[in-house]
Amino acid sequence: MDGRTLVTESSRKVPYTTDNAGIPVESDAHSLTVSPDGPVLLHDHYLIEKMAQFNRERVPERVVHAKGAGAYGFFEVTADVSQYTKAVVFQPGTRTEMLARFSTVAGEQGSPDTWRDPRGFALKFYTELGNYDMVGNNTPVFFVRDAQKFQDFIHSQKRHPATGLRDNDMQWDFWTLSPETAHQVAWLMGDRGIPKSYRFMNGYSSHTYLWVNGGGERFWVKYHFKTDQGVDFLTQAEADDLAGRDGDLHRRDLHGAIASGDAPSWTLKVQIMPFDDAPDYRFNPFDLTKVWPHGDYPLIEVGRMTLNKNPEDYFVHIEQAAFEPSNLIPGIGPSPDKMLLGRLFSYPDTHRYRIGPNYAQLPPNRPRSAVNSYAKDGPMRYAPANTAMPYAPNSYGGPAADVSVSGEPASWYSAGEMVREAYTLHAEDDDWGQAGTLVRTVLDDAARERLVSNVAGHLQQGVSPPVRERAFQYWRNIDQDIGDRIAKQVNGG
Ligand code: NDP
Repeated sequence: MDGRTLVTESSRKVPYTTDNAGIPVESDAHSLTVSPDGPVLLHDHYLIEKMAQFNRERVPERVVHAKGAGAYGFFEVTADVSQYTKAVVFQPGTRTEMLARFSTVAGEQGSPDTWRDPRGFALKFYTELGNYDMVGNNTPVFFVRDAQKFQDFIHSQKRHPATGLRDNDMQWDFWTLSPETAHQVAWLMGDRGIPKSYRFMNGYSSHTYLWVNGGGERFWVKYHFKTDQGVDFLTQAEADDLAGRDGDLHRRDLHGAIASGDAPSWTLKVQIMPFDDAPDYRFNPFDLTKVWPHGDYPLIEVGRMTLNKNPEDYFVHIEQAAFEPSNLIPGIGPSPDKMLLGRLFSYPDTHRYRIGPNYAQLPPNRPRSAVNSYAKDGPMRYAPANTAMPYAPNSYGGPAADVSVSGEPASWYSAGEMVREAYTLHAEDDDWGQAGTLVRTVLDDAARERLVSNVAGHLQQGVSPPVRERAFQYWRNIDQDIGDRIAKQVNGG
């Protein structure tokens, strides 16, 4: 199941230990000393190598999404969306090997899996035209809509600089001063804020992307990976209890299900918006704090992803996995979503820092198709260049860009002055509306009651009175009744 086989004394036959150069070592237990009680000798190379390697076992954990779990699997196309995109991964009948990593956002490597938090939903498809990554979440929206605010947002959710503690006052201070967070906060404080496990949650691109078909026609698209296990959640009380009893519950659940042959799957559906609908749509279709209501753009089936293979080594395959929304293959491009455009820079940059500049050569990140790039050298590089000469253009048969393969850039027209301003407002672009729709029309009475209790409980833990008052108003802006009930519960009514 995990490569473990118990070897008994009577059947003892195991490989001999070597150092990292493959040289047989003399002892697993004793260092080299002058006498049994004597000083340790510096030329005990094996001891020095073991200590030095141990001191370097960690790469920096991800600043966000540090705690996670992942597995390999495949994606099968079950429908025909070739009229919307020419992307090889979505052509009828195609089957593509893939890797998925799920995670919490704010917690560190050792943090409990059952903290209330959005969950990362990162996918890498090993297509014949390179890696396609979709770095989504288990929510269709996000807290902010501009990469300029992302760092501040995350600082408010992580630990306080002085106390080293997570701090609800910082969280509500930022949220109530940033009304665009209302939709995501309403989502987070509801049942889906703590999934039962990674298998029981949906995944969303959240961002809008651009699809281009074989004829050059363009469409805006949003992805929805619907769990085939059914959506299920933990209550706050269940999650608090489990956090103390099994901090790795969700990692254990995913590994255990796959190991026992119960491979989880998700059905991919997309919403498609004709390219020219965008300017006059009632919501800004590129605003990450908004959904496209299903009534406006219904879900269209594409295919199914199945995770059926646990990594043989967690560090190699999951800790070093490097997902990047900039990995877009022909037929797929970015939209003008400002958070997405920021992430296209940020993700490869963090991998270069965290893992090193040759991270793309590591097993989980290595494309299964040819790499003919002119990149060379750098730390830990081991794949030889595939370029004949290390520069382009050259006369010796080195690769040359071929637009008949890549296609023209998937792009949109843009012109104007350089500005630092919010999106142009569409008819229904206020910050409270969709959050109000969620709590009024999607949640039932019992779910609303749990929402009120979750928020009230959170506000009662270290949130200062002025910030609390702002939080009551924030919720009244979403829904008067919910806001009143939260205030009453916090004030002991
Ligand atoms: P619909 O009634 O068509 O869809 C409602 C959606 O809400 C369903 O997709 C359902 O997902 C999801 N949902 C159910 N319970 C919860 C919960 N506790 N927390 C969060 N989501 C839940 O309505 P609209 O498309 O008009 O959207 C109404 C609101 O629903 C939106 O403002 C948004 O907050 C939320 N929503 C919308 C999504 C979208 O892309 N349109 C996606 C997810 C949420 P499921 O079918 O898997 O049960």
